[in-house]
Amino acid sequence: MTDQTEQAAAIEAVVGAIAERLEAEREHLTDLDSAIGDADHGGNMARGWAAATTAVEDLDDAGPATVVKTAGRTLMSEVGGASGPLYGGSLVFASTELEGGLTDETLVAFAETYLEKVMDRGDAAVGDQTMVDALVPAVHTFKKSVEVDDLSAVEALAKAVDAAERGVAFTVPIRASKGRASYLGWRSVGHQDPGATSTLFILETLLATARERLDADLASSVDATSPVVPDEEPEA
Ligand code: ADP
Ligand code: MG
Repeated sequence: MTDQTEQAAAIEAVVGAIAERLEAEREHLTDLDSAIGDADHGGNMARGWAAATTAVEDLDDAGPATVVKTAGRTLMSEVGGASGPLYGGSLVFASTELEGGLTDETLVAFAETYLEKVMDRGDAAVGDQTMVDALVPAVHTFKKSVEVDDLSAVEALAKAVDAAERGVAFTVPIRASKGRASYLGWRSVGHQDPGATSTLFILETLLATARERLDADLASSVDATSPVVPDEEPEA
């Protein structure tokens, strides 16, 4: 990706795709939250990300950091409960890492700062049956894949999605110690955490969007270098 305007447009598209995915998963997330919470996580996510989509579409001349910050602010104001400030506030806070544009380095910094803020605000650690159980393995895997294994950001994201998936599965056999589900004590055991699940859906959507974009970029670079074949015989 080249300039910040293009990067901002790519992030706007990601926000819209996340909104679509979470709308499609509204019932699924609500079902998970009704088992161990108050059955609002599906509605919270679908409503919040739909509002974020409208807010980022209304921006003019914004860079990637501003797009992420605007999405985060909208989530904070639209979504109450635990997940609004956790998702929204952490996006706002981490958005400053993208002020220099999107590179492998700034994406790793963004992911780390986002995770730090979620853990700081929610005071949850791995094993408390929250979104942190999906985020910690995802962010650590992303960072290692870029910095140690030298993978591209998209390949690293694919590894991070696999790690998040395992993190979501890990929430099932453990007991909630943070958030509403913790009121259930041992009865939270055996249930998949809704926030870890929405985190996975967001990462999956990010990956799918990044892959589509990469395919489109490859296709257009092939077009640009293909010989031009005239479709009509030149006149004699
Ligand atoms: P609420 O619990 O206020 O109804 P939601 O249902 O939208 O909010 O979100 C619930 C999700 O928020 C949980 O499944 C969990 O992943 C996450 N969560 C709740 N409390 C915390 C916390 N202290 N730290 C991290 N994540 C949390
Ligand atoms: Mg809830």
